[in-house]
Amino acid sequence: MSQIIPAGAPVETEVVIVGAGPCGLFQVFELGLLGISAHLVDSLAHPGGQCTELYPDKPIYDIPALPVCGAQELVDRLLQQIKPFHPQFHLGQEVTELQRREDGRFLLKTATGTTFNTATVVIAGGVGSFQPRRIGLDGADLFEGTDIRYRVRDAHLLHGKRLVVFGGGDSALDWALELAPKASSLTLVHRQPHFRGAPASVSKMRQMVEAGHMRYVEGIAHGLVVDNGALRGVNVKRAAGDLVALDADHLLVFFGLHPKLGPIAEWGLELEKKALKVDTEKFQTSVPGIFAVGDINTYPGKKKLILSGFHEAALAAFAIQHHLFPQKKQFLQYTTTSPVMHKRLGVPD
Ligand SMILES: Cc1cc2nc3c(=O)[nH]c(=O)nc-3n(C[C@H](O)[C@H](O)[C@H](O)COP(=O)(O)OP(=O)(O)OC[C@H]3O[C@@H](n4cnc5c(N)ncnc54)[C@H](O)[C@@H]3O)c2cc1C
Repeated sequence: MSQIIPAGAPVETEVVIVGAGPCGLFQVFELGLLGISAHLVDSLAHPGGQCTELYPDKPIYDIPALPVCGAQELVDRLLQQIKPFHPQFHLGQEVTELQRREDGRFLLKTATGTTFNTATVVIAGGVGSFQPRRIGLDGADLFEGTDIRYRVRDAHLLHGKRLVVFGGGDSALDWALELAPKASSLTLVHRQPHFRGAPASVSKMRQMVEAGHMRYVEGIAHGLVVDNGALRGVNVKRAAGDLVALDADHLLVFFGLHPKLGPIAEWGLELEKKALKVDTEKFQTSVPGIFAVGDINTYPGKKKLILSGFHEAALAAFAIQHHLFPQKKQFLQYTTTSPVMHKRLGVPD
């Protein structure tokens, strides 16, 4: 049953998992088998981590018992597998703060204002949270989040405006196609004739350019045009070296995402080469009650493989159970034969 939380009040829970990549998802499963529920937070708008963000269509060949499995398929299977445990997702929210409370619990905050009061934390942050690649022009920081956007949350705010869209991938093409009929003008700018996006979108874009419904300029962003503190447009440099001045109310920039360790590095946890040091019994960090699994952790012999993260999640789950209920006797049960686990999994006996 989902918890009813008064507005602004912290979410009270036993476990918060930071990162909904494959290892964070499997952590939900291993905790669920032990009767422990979890909240999952990810800065991306969807679960799946690197698998979904970087290589959704690529086949993976080293997941035990799955001779070949698409990366997105793996994520979909994990989501299916954790369904019986009803994890609560908080997506599109970067965890920015983690503090130890006097009572030994932890206070965790996200960039969008969600707060958790949790007994334990599992950091499954992979190579960090994915951040948009920025336009990198002088003075751009003054307009980022308003007139220069790296994601579109409220598309109707862009209707009737002069738009310049940068990028050659699916996001740039999809938004250009979607917004061109609604904007007062729209120009797509890409640095080279080859596009990374779906061929069908590229040919649709070319048709719209030919029909005069949008403009296409091949070049790179060179400088902002600012007048009286307001963004008026952008200069684009073509390969030949000449500048094209484009009037604009908004620049939509889709140069892809890159991972950044970000706030995790500032939580006072022992680090080695940008990874969290853990022991190999509990996968606990230098702070008791805070665990780390998957690509984010390091220990002698660590290999950044999904398979390793799955093993780490299993052992971390037992350690978390012991942390939460130190008096409870722990014993290993098999999912094949345990009636308790069948009940938790929703398997009829
Ligand atoms: C092209 C490519 C191919 C690969 N092929 C294989 C393969 O064949 N086999 C294999 O085993 N491995 C493969 N890998 C590696 C594998 O993808 C990683 O080992 C795996 O994704 C690690 O999972 P994870 O859950 O630890 O982290 P990730 O998948 O990186 O997920 C971490 C998540 O944490 C989130 N996050 C981080 N910090 C925060 C924060 N502060 N707040 C909120 N959210 C946060 C991120 O947004 C991200 O979604 C491949 C990797 C790449 C790039």
